Amino acid sequence: MPPSPRPMLSTTTSNDLITGEQFRPRKLARRLTGFLPQEIKSIDSMIPLQSRELWKKHEVKKFGDSEEFQGKFIQHVETTLARSLYNCDEFAAYQAASESVRDNLVIDWNKTQQRITARDPKRVYYLSLEFLMGRALDNALINLNTSEEGDSTSREMVKASVEQLGFRLEDILEQEPDAGLGNGGLGRLAACFVDSLATGDYPAWGYGLRYQYGIFSQKIIDGHQVETPDYWLNFRNPWEIERSEIQVAVSFYGYVERAHGGSTLAPTEWIGGEQVLAVPYDMPVPGFNTSTVNNLRLWSAKPTTEFDFSKFNSGDYSNSVADQQRAESITAVLYPNDNFHSGKVLRLKQQYFWCAASLHDIVRRFKKTLRPWSEFPDQVAIQLNDTHPTLAIIELQRILVDLEHLDWHTAWDIVTKTFSYTNHTVMQEALEKWPVGLFGHLLPRHLEIVYDINWFFLQEVEKKFPKNVDLLARVSIIEESSPERQLRMAFLAIVGSHKVNGVAELHSELIKTTIFRDFVDIYGPSKFTNVTNGITPRRWLKQANPELAGLIADTLDDKDDSYLLEMSRLTKLANYADNPEFQRRWDDVKYHNKLRLANWLRDHNGGVDIIDRESIRDTLFDVQVKRIHEYKRQQLNVFGIIHRYLSIKDMLATGAALEEVRAAFPPRVCIFGGKAAPGYYMAKLIIRLINAVAAVINDDAAIGNLLKVVFIPDYNVSRAEIIIPASDLSEHISTAGTEASGTSNMKFVMNGGLIIGTVDGANVEITREIGEDNIFLFGNLAEDVEDLRYRHRYHRQELPAPIARVLETLSSGAFSPQDLREFQPLVDSVAQHGDYYLVSDDFDSYIACQALVDRVYHGDRRAWLQKSILSVANVGFFSSDRCIEEYAEMVWNVEAVKQE
Ligand SMILES: *Cc1c(COP(=O)(O)O)cnc(C)c1O
Repeated sequence: MPPSPRPMLSTTTSNDLITGEQFRPRKLARRLTGFLPQEIKSIDSMIPLQSRELWKKHEVKKFGDSEEFQGKFIQHVETTLARSLYNCDEFAAYQAASESVRDNLVIDWNKTQQRITARDPKRVYYLSLEFLMGRALDNALINLNTSEEGDSTSREMVKASVEQLGFRLEDILEQEPDAGLGNGGLGRLAACFVDSLATGDYPAWGYGLRYQYGIFSQKIIDGHQVETPDYWLNFRNPWEIERSEIQVAVSFYGYVERAHGGSTLAPTEWIGGEQVLAVPYDMPVPGFNTSTVNNLRLWSAKPTTEFDFSKFNSGDYSNSVADQQRAESITAVLYPNDNFHSGKVLRLKQQYFWCAASLHDIVRRFKKTLRPWSEFPDQVAIQLNDTHPTLAIIELQRILVDLEHLDWHTAWDIVTKTFSYTNHTVMQEALEKWPVGLFGHLLPRHLEIVYDINWFFLQEVEKKFPKNVDLLARVSIIEESSPERQLRMAFLAIVGSHKVNGVAELHSELIKTTIFRDFVDIYGPSKFTNVTNGITPRRWLKQANPELAGLIADTLDDKDDSYLLEMSRLTKLANYADNPEFQRRWDDVKYHNKLRLANWLRDHNGGVDIIDRESIRDTLFDVQVKRIHEYKRQQLNVFGIIHRYLSIKDMLATGAALEEVRAAFPPRVCIFGGKAAPGYYMAKLIIRLINAVAAVINDDAAIGNLLKVVFIPDYNVSRAEIIIPASDLSEHISTAGTEASGTSNMKFVMNGGLIIGTVDGANVEITREIGEDNIFLFGNLAEDVEDLRYRHRYHRQELPAPIARVLETLSSGAFSPQDLREFQPLVDSVAQHGDYYLVSDDFDSYIACQALVDRVYHGDRRAWLQKSILSVANVGFFSSDRCIEEYAEMVWNVEAVKQE
């Protein structure tokens, strides 16, 4: 009797239904891998009846009620964790709860992937070097689909269940470390997108890297940022499934072999030098109110098992082990730069490792269908989140030409129909460029392919615009002007894609008129489009702000929270914007969220309490949390705080009564949070300044509650979830034209916070959606920035008095008594070095706008509450569900796969 096929099927990875690839020796596996999707149903008949019946008898079931949940929980404590009733602490409870919830997700995930394999629709692959996922458990509880439980939601059921077991759900949730595999907005966008893709039932996978260390954790020591490693994987991670049965070999270095006189366009052999294995770790991504569970596949690097025995045998044991370690270093750490290209070779290695492994996976899945290559773009859409995955374009061309032996132009047609590219910045220092020498050393065959792509592209340009040498030099993928030739990744991404999008209307217009202007002439405007960013309301409303979500659901009489899927329903809230009773309830929610933040701050600040509880309702919480960057202008905010402080001191010095001072400068708590890239001197200096100013002001007894300054260390997704709902006012004050979109602006609006901001990024559309009366705009416009910068460079003028006084105070050492010149670089940046970020140009307008904020918040609270309610009523457009629909229709041409 031949061996039973069962073991093979049990190891068939659920995500694909049939992979088989890794089990080639087995006979049936080989037969199964060649099946067409429509033949899958017949696979059943190939499995012995007895096996099928046993499988059915032992069908794994989801927990549906409290009893079943508690059973699973205890089983995981006792077996998975090998603990007991007597040593189950909160962390163990978090792990056991997560394992139990994960079991449910995995069951739906298997079904989702089987359904998609059977239907074989066009799939979307979202390639992002960053996924800033945050915590998974609470999100999974909100999205969990256990319909059996009557009226109470799954989350409420689990909450009650763990309480009976002796735990508070909130404490359990707090145990989870953030998955911090991103720097800021770009990575969080990818996380919101995978949530919306699953919620919309799209057949979509995310592909990224499983960094051993995500974004560093930030400590503030003596006012300085100190970076420490992010040990997020120190304990078993219940949210990932290692697929050690899948391994993709990725090569680097080496050389290209070609017959003498052979063409680079013909199939070519690349003999790689170093080889590294890519092993996938899968994270289930549950949709809301659907049983669809999609996949986020993160690759981890591991050495090939081919140990270098020649080194070993020659006695060079430690060097052969060092080689192994070098392999693992590829996915060791996330580069901590936001909007900045540093050009490190290990970063390029990360990019190729990830693109090669992902493309291999995507191509393997396509090839299983036995479709002709011409159908590849009908089956596969690949979205490039910024230029980081641009190598995927070259890699697909290499696979098609070198390995699949397609004709160059046929291959290139397939490639360009498959890819689309999202641009995230127009700032020069953030645009990715790689020296040709470095690139060709690491990826010799890829460099040849780039040269050929460029050659055909420039020919096309020459045909359309004959004899325009300047144009050819400007748009060439190879930049020749710098001392060393450089590969311009954004240009390659445009040439290799069928659609290019910016992330907010202003930004999408800017790329067409500045960095990509020539490409609009070459390809026509229709290649360029806009998809304004969005955020998932499940995490950023329901999860972060349960009380506001409750009030909204109550008001809309929406028991199953369906407004979270159809955010236009929020417009009904406008009917209550002026209703005093509703305003009171709305204000109470904000008050409770401010209390929650104040208590959290005390508990995470060694018990030191900065925020006065008595006056908290009438204290404006003014928040700026985001990466620290000169273009985001935290320095403008701090300068404004110094100005406010000096003004208060002036009034007090003239003997004004406290009531008078309070009328002019009502109580405020200014809250900052954000990480600076470890090598970014000016950003780190801004952090020091914020902390120095906080120390002086918070210690000044004469100021009392009128002004407090707080820097919250280690800003991340889970901290954002506590901070954002507590904000009355948030600051989005980038130099006009520098912030591509911003997404935290949307998060704040969704939580009833008002915005003070410049006419930049998505602030423009936020204004359009919520109404210009409901946002505090100030400052110069993007169209004037170039002229203003020019004036600073060539016609230096005296600074206006308010900013001049702030800078003089800084220069005097008032905030740095131990080192009087400590903050001079920040002064000089404005006063001596051309004020590139136009802080002095926008300062007066900013101060005037802040005064208006004070007048409305303290002078007319009902008007303030009305603005807040109207903002939430009209925030629907900024749901990431809307973004995904736009991408699906305009860019990917894919449809949802709903359950039958
Ligand atoms: C949303 C978010 C960001 C992006 O904030 P911006 O103000 O849009 O730059 C950065 N970090 C975290 C943790 C976020 O949640």
